[in-house]
Amino acid sequence: MLITHDTRCALEAVVDLVNTAPEDETTPDGLPDVAALADFVRRHEISDVGVLSEFDLSAVRKIRGRFAGIFAAPDVRTAAGMINELVAAAGTTPRLTDHDGYDWHVHYFAPGASIADHLAADCGMALAFFVVGGERERLRRCEAPDCRRAFVDLSRNRSRRYCDSRTCGNRLHVAAYRARRKEATG
Ligand SMILES: [Zn+2]
Ligand SMILES: [Zn+2]
Repeated sequence: MLITHDTRCALEAVVDLVNTAPEDETTPDGLPDVAALADFVRRHEISDVGVLSEFDLSAVRKIRGRFAGIFAAPDVRTAAGMINELVAAAGTTPRLTDHDGYDWHVHYFAPGASIADHLAADCGMALAFFVVGGERERLRRCEAPDCRRAFVDLSRNRSRRYCDSRTCGNRLHVAAYRARRKEATG
């Protein structure tokens, strides 16, 4: 499957968004205020976003929950249904663009769409094409027991198990190594 620059950016934005959600009542929200949302928009170079408000913040938090649900869906059919609902509610106006020096690609959000609808339309469509390409299993949750962060496995053989091999993967390798040594010596 060809993963275009825009699809990759959209997927990175979804993963980042899902991972801002607090794990429980004791952990802080990664999107605490409008400034944090503005920072998210800048970081992911999301185009055509107007002035952000409290309304935008609560709307983005709502769709964040829906994206998290798609990552957690038990099967493709459930995920497909959720993606359909998400994209339908956002409304779409597909159009070709070559903004900011990128090659021609299609944007889906309607002109003047809110940031929440923008993300739902374009990130929703990126996920839709992942399902079409038979790639849904690349949408993963980290297997480290105390992590569970969302990530997209873009490795050639879909073998990635941890959100970040330098932290989660490595941490587990060290733990397994220590356990083996303990067995050998004890
Ligand atoms: Zn674009
Ligand atoms: Zn992890």
